[in-house]
Amino acid sequence: MDFGFTAEQEKFRQEIRAFLDAELPPDWVGYVAPTTGDHIGSREDGWQVFKDIARKLGEKGWLSLFWPKEYGGQSRSYVDYLIFSEEVARRGSPGYNPVAVKMLAPTLIDYGTEEQKERHLKPIAKGQEFWCEGFSEPEAGSDMGSLQMKAVKDNKYFIINGQKTWSTFADYSDWCCLLARSDPHSRRAKGLSFFLVDLSTPGITLRPIENMAGELHFSQIFFEDVRVPKENLVGRENEGWQVAQALLGYERSSIEFVAMVQSMIERLVKYVKATPGMQTIHARDLLAKLAIEAEIGRLINYRIAWLHDKGMATDWHAAMTKLYSTDLFKRAASAAIQLLGLYGQLDKREDIAPLQGWIEHFYLVSFGATIAAGTSEIQKNIIALRGLGLPRG
Ligand SMILES: Cc1cc2nc3c(=O)[nH]c(=O)nc-3n(C[C@H](O)[C@H](O)[C@H](O)COP(=O)(O)OP(=O)(O)OC[C@H]3O[C@@H](n4cnc5c(N)ncnc54)[C@H](O)[C@@H]3O)c2cc1C
Repeated sequence: MDFGFTAEQEKFRQEIRAFLDAELPPDWVGYVAPTTGDHIGSREDGWQVFKDIARKLGEKGWLSLFWPKEYGGQSRSYVDYLIFSEEVARRGSPGYNPVAVKMLAPTLIDYGTEEQKERHLKPIAKGQEFWCEGFSEPEAGSDMGSLQMKAVKDNKYFIINGQKTWSTFADYSDWCCLLARSDPHSRRAKGLSFFLVDLSTPGITLRPIENMAGELHFSQIFFEDVRVPKENLVGRENEGWQVAQALLGYERSSIEFVAMVQSMIERLVKYVKATPGMQTIHARDLLAKLAIEAEIGRLINYRIAWLHDKGMATDWHAAMTKLYSTDLFKRAASAAIQLLGLYGQLDKREDIAPLQGWIEHFYLVSFGATIAAGTSEIQKNIIALRGLGLPRG
C-alpha cells in the first residue's frame, strides 16, 4: 500500500499552483469553488476572467485530463484529475465548469453518439462551451422520478414543455443537459429521456434565483414549446434514467469541498497567528480537529479516485465522498464562524470583516452544499441500501 503521489504527480500539482499564481488577478479572492457564479457576480470583470482562465486551462489540456485520447482527452488517471480539481478549488479559481468537464463529458463518452461527441467534447476541452444541469423541478428534487417536464415527438424534433429549477450556473451556460418524460403513460424512472438542449433555442426563459449569500447562483428555466432535434437525445428514448444516474455518479465524486476546508484552515491559522487574543486553547482544539477531518476527507476522495482508476468504484462510493465532504464543509464553516465570534458574521462589504468576509460567505453557502447533487439523507440511503445491503423498510 502506497499513500504517496508519484514524482510526476507532485510536479503536476506544482505546475497547477504556479499557473494559478501567474494567471489569477492579484486581487482575486476566490470565494467559492467549484464554479457557481458566486465570484463571477462579485466583480465587474468576473465573467471575462472566468472565460479567459477557462481557455487557458483548456490550452493546458487540463479540462480533459481523464478523458480518453481518442476523444481529445489526455488519458490521464482520475487521481491526476483530482489533483487538478483540488488545486483549483483550494484557490477558488474561476474557469472550471464541473457539469461540462467532469460530468457531462464522461457521460457522453459512455452514452453519446459519435456526432454528439464530435460536436461537444472539443469545445468543452478548450474551455469554450459551458453547461448546466436541469434535473430538479419545483415538485421533483430528491424524488427525481416524479418529474413532470414533457417531451413529445414531432417529426425530427422533441417538443419540450415544463420547468426546471435550481440550475447552477445556468445564466452563464450555453447548453443544459436535462431529463424529460417522453412516454406520457410511464411512471417514475421509466419513460424518461436525456436531452442536450441549446439554451438559445426559442421558447426558453431563465429567471435567476438569489442564494442565501445574496448571490445569483442558480436559475429557474422555463420551456415553452422548445424544439429539440432528435439528434440531441442521449442514449435510448425512454431510458434516460440510466444516463442521468451515470452523470450523477460523476457529480458526487468530489474533493472540492475538502479543498475548500483545507484552504479555510490555512487562512484561519494565519489569522489566528496574526491576531492578538486569538491564540487560545479553543482555537487550537478547533483547528486541530478540523485538520484531522480534512485529512480523512482527502484520503476518502483519493482512495475512491484510485478505485475509479481500477474500475472498482461504485455509486455508493461516490455517495460516501459527497456525504463526507459536504458535511465536513458545513461543520468547518460553522466552527470557523464560532472561532471568529461576532466579527465572523460580517460580510465582504465591511472593511473590518475578518479574512475579507470569506468565512461568512462559506458559512452561508455551506448549507446548499449538503443539498445540491442529492441531499445528505439521500446519500445515506444510497450507502445503506446499495453499499451495506440493508433492506428498504
Ligand atoms: C446549491 C444548490 C445547487 C443546486 N444545483 C442544481 C443543479 O445544477 N441542477 C439541478 O437539477 N438541481 C440542482 N439543485 C437542486 C437539488 O438537486 C435539490 O434541491 C435536491 O435534490 C433536493 O430536492 P428538493 O430541494 O426538492 O428537496 P426534497 O426532495 O423536497 O427534500 C426535502 C427534505 O426531505 C428529505 N428527503 C427527501 N426524500 C427523502 C428520502 N427518501 N429519505 C430521507 N430523506 C428524504 C431531504 O433530504 C430534505 O431534507 C441544487 C440545489 C442547491 C441547494
